Amino acid sequence: MEDTVFLNGEFMPRSRARISPDDRGFLFGDGLYEVTPAYGGRFLAMDRHLARLRRGSETLSIPVPEGIEALHIELLRRNHLEEAEMAIVYLQVTRGTAPRSHAFPDPPVPATVYAWAKPFQRPPMEEWEEGYSAVTTPDRRWTRADLKTVQLLPQVLGQQAAREAGATDALLVKDGIALEGAHNNVFFVFGELLVTHPASNQILPGITREIVLELAREEGIPVEERAVPLEEAKCASEMFYTGTTTEVRPTVRLDGKPVGDGGVGPVTRRLHQAFLGRISRECGLAPV
Ligand code: PLP
Repeated sequence: MEDTVFLNGEFMPRSRARISPDDRGFLFGDGLYEVTPAYGGRFLAMDRHLARLRRGSETLSIPVPEGIEALHIELLRRNHLEEAEMAIVYLQVTRGTAPRSHAFPDPPVPATVYAWAKPFQRPPMEEWEEGYSAVTTPDRRWTRADLKTVQLLPQVLGQQAAREAGATDALLVKDGIALEGAHNNVFFVFGELLVTHPASNQILPGITREIVLELAREEGIPVEERAVPLEEAKCASEMFYTGTTTEVRPTVRLDGKPVGDGGVGPVTRRLHQAFLGRISRECGLAPV
């Protein structure tokens, strides 16, 4: 059955949704987006996703309407996902539709607001246990990678490079620094120490990253937020990615070479378990 999407104030079947070719999201990539997960119908860290969206909205002067949380809940309901084990809601807000001209429309026009929900399936545990591979690729993004804009061409190219190499994830590298994935953040383990890039303008401040950092501190795992040169990353004993749809994903091969001993490591396992525990607690599910 066709899913129900939201566009500019109305719910409708996906096949009825239309936007103008003069939408600034289409012409300029002039828009923001968010992806928020729900487990058993309850959103995880909705407040943080909304705060990130608000920060993007204020920084870029793209107005985000009220009622976004209610919209998320209603999209789950209309798509019969209130009890889905896992679902995601995608939300996109652009600066609206106006004749093509680089500067903001004057007077301003209403934002275009588009959102949908869909079920999300975790990979089977046996696959996770095998681990995943990643390949390095140049980071070609602008200097505000911290904003979740719909200008994703560099990430598209990075993810395509991973796919062509038969890998699951891309490792974006700029000036010799291993920054993050094309749609997820990256962590390295050196001995006992967990390291990830600081939340600067060079990376997207992932909500999952933030939660995993909190969990590591709760678990007493020493953490450093600092830049990791690729040469150092290659010597990590463990490596994993975090993200809304990635959750905690172990990388056991980087550029065709084993990471550490080539198996899923103990720190990754511990944080993955802790992450599943956090989901259960926050979303009121049975403990894992
Ligand atoms: N890094 C990039 C470049 C992303 O696009 C994303 C999510 O889309 C993330 C990291 C992970 O963020 P989150 O954990 O909030 O999904």
